[in-house]
Amino acid sequence: MTIVPTIKLFETDAYVRELETTIVDQSDAGVCLEKTIFYAESGGQPGDVGELVLDSGESLLVADAQYIPGRLRIAHVLATPPDRSLIGAKVLARIDWERRYRLMRLHTSLHLLCSLVDAPVTGCAIYPDYARLDFDIESALDRQTLTDRLNALVRNDLPVEIECRSADVLSAEPSLVRTVQVALPQTGKQLRLVSIGEVDRQPCGGTHVRSTGEIGSLAVTNVEKKGRRNRRVKIALTALTERSTETAG
Ligand SMILES: [Zn+2]
Repeated sequence: MTIVPTIKLFETDAYVRELETTIVDQSDAGVCLEKTIFYAESGGQPGDVGELVLDSGESLLVADAQYIPGRLRIAHVLATPPDRSLIGAKVLARIDWERRYRLMRLHTSLHLLCSLVDAPVTGCAIYPDYARLDFDIESALDRQTLTDRLNALVRNDLPVEIECRSADVLSAEPSLVRTVQVALPQTGKQLRLVSIGEVDRQPCGGTHVRSTGEIGSLAVTNVEKKGRRNRRVKIALTALTERSTETAG
């Protein structure tokens, strides 16, 4: 049987909050949609939550979104598994935008943090309240200096651009890969490259804001020594700018 991949609209436009689509499959894992705006957990960023509203008005709460092994399809994990087949049902898919927008701002902030520390990244996690990167580095990192430099990059309101390039670009520029041991966001022979102004460029499959000004302001809340060659840096959003409030509203 040929598996038709889920169309992932969050890759082409991370700002879509609602979408009319159809349930095309259903299993213990959840329901699959023809196309989706729910980001599935990957690369340290959690899956989106939200709801699927049926024509009858019934709302099915989506508690998580996960790739089905093989990564062709995304399972929308329902908080209450339905007791009937929903295959073929039309739904209005709606993500929890407030949560997702925080994840987008924090995710983009991690790219900025990555650009400020010249060391391989060995771990990454993003939560609605904070995010962290682990660096393979022996020297100490100063919390206040990093905070100041991050906020300077935010104030510069740098554009965030996505381009799809041939995966061969990696053979030519192996230094593009900053995170070790992470599956690359590859679709066939295409690689998704994310650039932030002139400061950061790396393959990434996550959701980002359009420009760094939307991040608002940031603080490095903690730099923790985790082993001789590992520093864990945690960041949090400290304020909403007027502009990001508008975008989120
Ligand atoms: Zn990213």
